[in-house]
Amino acid sequence: MPYAPRKPCAAMGCGALVGSGTRYCEAHQRAKYREIDRARGTTTQRGYDGTWQKLRLAFLAAHPLCECDDCGAGRIRLTPADVVDHIVPIAKRPDLRLDWSNLRAMAKACHDRHTARTQGFAQVGRAGRIPGRVR
Ligand SMILES: [Zn+2]
Ligand SMILES: [Zn+2]
Repeated sequence: MPYAPRKPCAAMGCGALVGSGTRYCEAHQRAKYREIDRARGTTTQRGYDGTWQKLRLAFLAAHPLCECDDCGAGRIRLTPADVVDHIVPIAKRPDLRLDWSNLRAMAKACHDRHTARTQGFAQVGRAGRIPGRVR
């Protein structure tokens, strides 16, 4: 079919013509697949793989309330937990990543507050936000 319609590759700045039915030229198609592969690899490397997902759900089923210092697992406040926090950070003890004794159920809001406090983001947040001027 010498007159099959051809259009330029959808990648920015790429002038290669591709046949109908494809968006990218061969090189850019391969690059797209690599991107997807890389994203998948990162998730696993960060420790949020299938094993962790399963353990996380099991842990939250057993610990439905936020166990942070402000909530005390329901003794102080009844806050539903939706994230699982590592008491000793994975960076320090990667071997305790899947150890229930190193896990703590937390509400997302409490977890963010806790992370900000322990990692020193709280100061950045305070300085960067001017009350009454947030648009
Ligand atoms: Zn291209
Ligand atoms: Zn809490």
